[in-house]
Amino acid sequence: MITTLAAEHNLPDSELLAVINGGFDEELKNTADRVRREFFGDLVYIRGLIEISSICKNDCIYCGIRASNGNAARYRLTKEEILSCCKTGAELGFSTFVLQGGEDLYFTDDILCDIIDSIKKISPDAAVTLSVGERSRESYKALKNAGADRYLLRHETADSGHYARLHPEGMSLDTRKRCLYALKELGYQVGSGFMVGSPYQTAENILADIRFLQEIQPDMIGIGPFVPHKDTPFGEFPHGSLELTLRLISVLRLCFPESLLPSTTALGTISPDGRERGLMAGANVVMPNLSPQEVRSKYNLYDNKLAIGAESAEGLRILEEKIKSAGYTLSMSRGDSPRVLKERNKQI
Ligand code: SAH
Repeated sequence: MITTLAAEHNLPDSELLAVINGGFDEELKNTADRVRREFFGDLVYIRGLIEISSICKNDCIYCGIRASNGNAARYRLTKEEILSCCKTGAELGFSTFVLQGGEDLYFTDDILCDIIDSIKKISPDAAVTLSVGERSRESYKALKNAGADRYLLRHETADSGHYARLHPEGMSLDTRKRCLYALKELGYQVGSGFMVGSPYQTAENILADIRFLQEIQPDMIGIGPFVPHKDTPFGEFPHGSLELTLRLISVLRLCFPESLLPSTTALGTISPDGRERGLMAGANVVMPNLSPQEVRSKYNLYDNKLAIGAESAEGLRILEEKIKSAGYTLSMSRGDSPRVLKERNKQI
């Protein structure tokens, strides 16, 4: 079954469900590692994560910075602060900057376009990735024209009933999907993904997630365990399991051999060696935190979120060692999607 998955990047529903439900752990992991090395060698790409705002108009039930959390500490970085993070990052050798934040209405198209343009002036060769939620097609277009290269927007769950249990009225899977299709069509390198073990999630939901990803064919796929935040209605739910997250990273590597798969902060948060184990299961991206020190504890999506040591940009040397001891090599290159590199080569 795993051999078929590795060769054909797909399995019928019943077989994929059997793997999701706990089959073939060692064989699955080893095959995923082999496939990852075939396509990417031993490289692990690094992205500098800048958390630009903890202010959010949305009220996603699972998220610590949801609008109705009165205990959340709110901040918003200025343009100068964001540029200063990028300068620090560039000095450390980063060549991708990910601007992530809540849906903060302050960040109009004009303001974001000006920031993107300024980053490109400081670091013309760096990739700019945005992760600022749902916007109109026109807005995505303006941001792309200003120089944004990539966009991360997890679909969160591809089952509309499950989506409705994780989000307030007024948010819908259809809108989320429409955003993803628009981003793709506008030429962004697109990242989607979902939480593992979010409340009420079933194995069938995960199967639907994989089927949706096969439909949209993203360049990046971010998955990480759900981690409860005490000031949300999901505060008492257990976190998603390490084993299931690792198994799904391997499944995704086999279904999407050329994808960029981060070993996420949430994985490192639920287990001290989670990030390394994510890499060994098939992940090939790590996103250290480049946000100003004083705001890191305020971007609190879930309890105990890591932001120090190997998780932080200053801890790059520690991270490099950890990546090495897991059997891989840290790369400071842009790590563009192989799909995009192939298209560029065709044009030359
Ligand atoms: N506003 C942006 C960024 C959201 S934060 C957007 O809508 O895309 C980035 C990701 O963190 C989310 O997509 C979600 O999958 C994840 N996240 C939020 N709360 C979480 C929690 N409690 N546990 C684990 N992951 C969480």
